[in-house]
Amino acid sequence: MNEIRIFSPATVANVSCGFDVLGFCLDTIGDEMVVRKTKEKGVSISKIIGSDLPYDIQKNVAGVSALALYDDAKPNFGFDIEIYKHIKPGSGIGSSAASASGSVFAINELLGRPYSKTQLTHFAMKGEAIASGSEHADNIAPTIFGGFTLIKNTSPIKVLQLPTPDELYAIIIHPQIEIKTSLARAILPNSIPLKDAITQWSNLGSLVHALHTNDYDLLGNSLEDVIIEPHRSELIPHFQMVKKEVLNNGALGCGISGSGPSIFSLCKGVKNAKQVKNAINNSYLKTEVSFEIHLSKINTEGIKIL
Ligand code: ADP
Repeated sequence: MNEIRIFSPATVANVSCGFDVLGFCLDTIGDEMVVRKTKEKGVSISKIIGSDLPYDIQKNVAGVSALALYDDAKPNFGFDIEIYKHIKPGSGIGSSAASASGSVFAINELLGRPYSKTQLTHFAMKGEAIASGSEHADNIAPTIFGGFTLIKNTSPIKVLQLPTPDELYAIIIHPQIEIKTSLARAILPNSIPLKDAITQWSNLGSLVHALHTNDYDLLGNSLEDVIIEPHRSELIPHFQMVKKEVLNNGALGCGISGSGPSIFSLCKGVKNAKQVKNAINNSYLKTEVSFEIHLSKINTEGIKIL
């Protein structure tokens, strides 16, 4: 195989109570990438459609992660990358993670799959680090493993794959404003009250249990974030309105996707998911902010070969 085309999905990190450790993978939103072997050694990016991103492989996360793998594998040929961007950078649904993971996944396939998913996560984190300033895996891991993932450690990286209940659907609303990840981090407190920490780890443990036991009610009750959301929701226009609408329409829960501005909701069954999507759509249309809205089943596969 000399060439491969892949779908690299968007992801939701944090998932309310799992700041920096929990994430899940989406199915209907994602980038496409084409990677092909070249006679010349090294890694290049020859095409980027859909977004104004750097072609310099040291500045594009897809190039940085690809180079990390390439330097380890040392093949006697090279790779060229094309990126067809559908996930807007800075949207809070893992735009950089899709690129960083996509390039290493594709190169691994072209090399005959010498690396494990955990090793690919390690290489992709090198790319993610140039977008966010530190080596995060909470968007990378669900892109590569699919479904829900929990980051047990980042160094060395240890990813836990959690089960995905069958009838789970996500709705993502992306208000068309940009929130700098650096600002979204800067407004967070340095220390938190013990009582909030207790609530948060109780919710995270309960959410993990709910995924293992298919307990949708417990899942919904666990989607509560008493630490990050009170601060970051202030940056997202009409966050409280969306949350109220979502809960009034019977969704399991709702929270900030990554560092925002996207907001995710989780629903049991596609019928309820469509109802919740319509409700968010109709109420957000009354605001002054333009937006995009998506409905997606949870993607349990992660990156797909097209
Ligand atoms: P998101 O919150 O949607 O995950 P990030 O804030 O993580 O987005 O990443 C966006 C940043 O990464 C932007 O500064 C962007 O210029 C940079 N970047 C570099 N290469 C890429 C790429 N291939 N795809 C997306 N963003 C990239």
